[in-house]
Amino acid sequence: MFDKILIANRGEIALRILRAAKELGIATVAVHSTADADAMHVRLADESVCIGPPAARDSYLNIPSIIAACEITGADAVHPGYGFLSENARFAEVLAHHEIGFIGPKAEHIRIMGDKIEAKRTALKLGIPCVPGSEGGVETGEEAKRVAAEIGYPVLVKAASGGGGRGMKVARTEADLDQAIGMARSEAKAAFGDDSVYLEKYLEKPRHIEVQVLGDGAGGAVHLAERDCSLQRRHQKVWEEGGSPALNEAMRAEIGGICANAMKKLGYLGAGTVEFLYEDGRFYFIEMNTRIQVEHPVTEMITGIDLVNEQIRVAAGAPLSVAQEDIRVEGHAIECRINAEDPETFRPSPGQITYYHPPGGLGVRVDSAAFQGYRIPPNYDSLIGKLIVHGRTRNECLMRLRRALDEFVIDGVDTTLPLFRALVRNQDVQNGMYDIHWLETALASGDLKT
Ligand code: ADP
Repeated sequence: MFDKILIANRGEIALRILRAAKELGIATVAVHSTADADAMHVRLADESVCIGPPAARDSYLNIPSIIAACEITGADAVHPGYGFLSENARFAEVLAHHEIGFIGPKAEHIRIMGDKIEAKRTALKLGIPCVPGSEGGVETGEEAKRVAAEIGYPVLVKAASGGGGRGMKVARTEADLDQAIGMARSEAKAAFGDDSVYLEKYLEKPRHIEVQVLGDGAGGAVHLAERDCSLQRRHQKVWEEGGSPALNEAMRAEIGGICANAMKKLGYLGAGTVEFLYEDGRFYFIEMNTRIQVEHPVTEMITGIDLVNEQIRVAAGAPLSVAQEDIRVEGHAIECRINAEDPETFRPSPGQITYYHPPGGLGVRVDSAAFQGYRIPPNYDSLIGKLIVHGRTRNECLMRLRRALDEFVIDGVDTTLPLFRALVRNQDVQNGMYDIHWLETALASGDLKT
């Protein structure tokens, strides 16, 4: 097992990793930018190193500074959290070169899943169902028309190096196709420096359902059921729950089994998420995230398994602590991402938290690095914390979430708490009747008055 882990991240996920390390008896090193000198992860770690100025590219993304911090402190492994360097294959390789462990997947798997066309090709080979579309990129307008006619309109033109929902355009008929390709190409060129595109069948009303997997890197792998993350705004997840209100036990076992088998064949190491769109009873792979995700506590609440603990164990060469037959889904969990944002305009609202009172009680978990007096810096994302609630049934979970949201007080900055108080009282949300467009439509129509 590792003796000392350096946490190459900040905020709530840095605390989350620190907690798992402490429970394993492993010493911790925090790194921080000058903007985060007073942050909670720095206060709670055994040691800390300042790695640069506020801009992430000069601190949390600065590979030489992080390697230097490992060498100064004698850390023997790095946990990258999510975002920042977590899906940077080169970072994993540089660490290996310095004989420092990387708590994440093999570099080759990060690289494959980071390239959308390659990821889809690999998924198909591994038996994972994909959205019908072009095999690889499309070069000419003629080729695009032929593929689109085969899969049927509407089609979605997607950038091969796309991310964050950019470089995607819908073509409803053949007459729209040239223009959609032109727009996707120029957006992708500007954002990613790569104008290659591919085509997919456009799904009109899908849900976003993702499967959590864990692998030991040597052909052992399990799935830990699914999360439904259909409530999104601008392709950003807002509310996540598990299990999905749209699936039953048999469907869960089927898609979970497909993912676990695929990971066994791949020899996948660590935690990962296989993301699907789900429509009319069918799953369509969209991408795989090769890291721990923001919404991982939903899975922890329904399975009782500490995902970060498992990540650390397998990165150190230990076996997974659980076999598939030990993993059981109990009850229901929902996570709300509480951001420092205006709940109507979603404009970021950095500044000082003058009063902070988190909710408590049975089945309530708050993952946050915030505290009274904490000043949220303007340099990073606006997540203040995650409220995760568990209940024996979805109804119990919703009622508990409602009361926990009403207990939560954060003063001094605007927060998205009022949006969640409206969501938890909404009929469609209570019925689980939503797809990936539901939230934006509801916001635009004023149905979610905060
Ligand atoms: P990114 O890496 O930019 O997030 P994804 O491939 O994950 O790209 O797609 C982002 C989002 O776009 C999805 O969560 C979904 O909302 C939508 N999307 C992607 N592919 C399709 C499709 N074939 N049909 C309908 N919507 C899609």
